[in-house]
Amino acid sequence: MASLSGRHHPKDGTSNAMKKIEINKDLKGKNQEYAATNRELFLKHGVKVVNIMSSPGSGKTALLEKTAAHFQDKFKLAVLVGDISTNRDAERLKLAAAGIQSEQIVTENYGSACHLDARMIAEALPRLALEKTDLLIIENVGNLVCPAGLYLGEDKRVVLLSVPEGDDKVKKYPVIFREADLLLITKIDLIAACDFAPQKVEAEAREIKGGIEVLRLSAKSGEGLAEWYQWVDRLVSR
Ligand code: MG
Ligand code: ZN
Repeated sequence: MASLSGRHHPKDGTSNAMKKIEINKDLKGKNQEYAATNRELFLKHGVKVVNIMSSPGSGKTALLEKTAAHFQDKFKLAVLVGDISTNRDAERLKLAAAGIQSEQIVTENYGSACHLDARMIAEALPRLALEKTDLLIIENVGNLVCPAGLYLGEDKRVVLLSVPEGDDKVKKYPVIFREADLLLITKIDLIAACDFAPQKVEAEAREIKGGIEVLRLSAKSGEGLAEWYQWVDRLVSR
């Protein structure tokens, strides 16, 4: 008993678990402050902001290539891409749409974080001409877990789940789906090769988040892209 009480009741009266909770609260609080500042900037410049989240390889950048090319003559688009290493995705997007502002956030500079936080966004925003931007898309680091807990100042959250990842992911990673406004089931062109029941995914997503919208699409075949473009258009012209 002596060792137990020693561990759980150190002299200053605060347990290690309590300290951990305090630190997490502090980090969350700091993140909220940065997010609120980002939000003010977005409102000031009339920029709509979408935070796109998914696991690695579910087709975020491929979808953004198509999206950037589709909208490049209609409105002014900027993209911030988060990755642990390399600026490959930001470069891909510049190739896809000549007029696009595309900047990489390399989280190697932030302790190799597996997510974007509001401070990283705040520090990247001066590299964009917000006064010349209608829509900012933030491509989060590929990860279905921690991006869900970090508000960046965005208007909408979109989560991608690709067909090859499997139709069991909604219940395994419920938080990210609960925090999303729109679920995109991507790589729908691969449905014949995979055991993936889109109705099951939709039903489970709606169980977790009542009002979630769901679209099925493929950036490769083009199926379903029109509905995605309409969703983006509605957000920007709101
Ligand atoms: Mg990517
Ligand atoms: Zn993380």
